[in-house]
Amino acid sequence: MHNTTLEYAQQKDQQDPLASYRSKFHIPKDANGNDWLYFTGNSLGLQPKSTKDYINQELEDWANFGVEGHFEAKNPWMPYHEFLTESMAKIVGAKPIEVVTMNTLTTNLHLLMVSFYQPTKTKYKIVIESDAFPSDRYAVQTQLEFHGFDVSQGLIEWKPRAGETLLNMEDLESILEEQGDEIALLLIGGVNYYTGQYLDIKRIAQLGHAKHCMVGIDLAHGAGNIKPELHNSGVDFAAWCTYKYLNSGPGSLAGLFVHEKHAHNKDLKRFAGWWSHNKSTRFNMRQPLDVTPGAEGWQLSNPPILSMAAIKASLDMFNEVGMDALCKKSKELTGYFEFLLNQLHNDKIKIITPSNPDERGCQLSIQVKDADKRLHERLTDAHIITDWREPDVIRCAPVPMYNSFEDVYRMVEKFKAILS
Ligand SMILES: *Cc1c(COP(=O)(O)O)cnc(C)c1O
Repeated sequence: MHNTTLEYAQQKDQQDPLASYRSKFHIPKDANGNDWLYFTGNSLGLQPKSTKDYINQELEDWANFGVEGHFEAKNPWMPYHEFLTESMAKIVGAKPIEVVTMNTLTTNLHLLMVSFYQPTKTKYKIVIESDAFPSDRYAVQTQLEFHGFDVSQGLIEWKPRAGETLLNMEDLESILEEQGDEIALLLIGGVNYYTGQYLDIKRIAQLGHAKHCMVGIDLAHGAGNIKPELHNSGVDFAAWCTYKYLNSGPGSLAGLFVHEKHAHNKDLKRFAGWWSHNKSTRFNMRQPLDVTPGAEGWQLSNPPILSMAAIKASLDMFNEVGMDALCKKSKELTGYFEFLLNQLHNDKIKIITPSNPDERGCQLSIQVKDADKRLHERLTDAHIITDWREPDVIRCAPVPMYNSFEDVYRMVEKFKAILS
């Protein structure tokens, strides 16, 4: 059982096998040199100290070799994306052929829908969560419109029940029971960005497939803090960004997963570019398109090496730590955070994230009664960096890679003071 003393938090940090990783990151500091309490790894992960060296390596190789860097660089640019694949596949529980790093998340969602949203006149609807991230909503809305459908007919929202904030799997079952024959695609956030609810991805895939729907998962809030086991889940496709929990820098590239069952299907419709083409003949330049098997066949362009270097810096660290150790710490750290918040016995606050550790990642969304954005501003002024969602929710992510138990302790102490 946890207790509420600072000594306890410090003792937990001493016992934490991953404690040393904090020092491998740049933690922003206040004017007195004290670390900010950074709880927004779910928005932009902190910078690994190694990132600069990884990027500098590529800048040097560019300076020294120009175009020859494609082959002569220490990490040759031609296959550079392949250097990321194995580590990325481990993070999401996929086979290497199922994963590639490219583009940005929303771009990948569109490219994946080009292939996996193939509506007919009668089977064309798309299911999303009612609290889907806006970009995902706009992406499916515009896909419906692009195919000539009316969004008010075609977009189905999986909603929490009246008076509740979390999604219930039985309600998705009912939607599919009633309208499954008209539904072409489910596109669901594996971890909901607003509530932090981690849904049973495998169950969603089973339910969707039973009605011959395609199933896609947005893992932006899951990649790097849960183990989604994408391959075993059977979902058709997934995408996630790398600048949140994967610490790869603002606007960095995204991950894409296409299940192995689709890897060799060259008949799938897609938007292609020269990087979609078979590597062995890509540079003959005059060949008809011969799509590369697996996720790499969804690439369009030669990718930005500087951004991939930052991703490599981070993934090398994830590889070293492993998702088992990371998730173990994550559950403890988030559980401790929840414990301290509950010990405040403050009826102004309510944690809307599921209390079951298997149904959440490393985020707690705290609803504050009668709060407005000023509360968030006061937290920010105290260098407690959290994320505010209208109308009254503060999202906080204790990130297992760099947040400490003491961070969590200090955060709750200051939060208590600001609340009263
Ligand atoms: C962060 C996030 C996005 C952002 O998409 P970008 O294309 O990377 O700007 C989209 N969807 C979800 C669920 C997110 O969490």
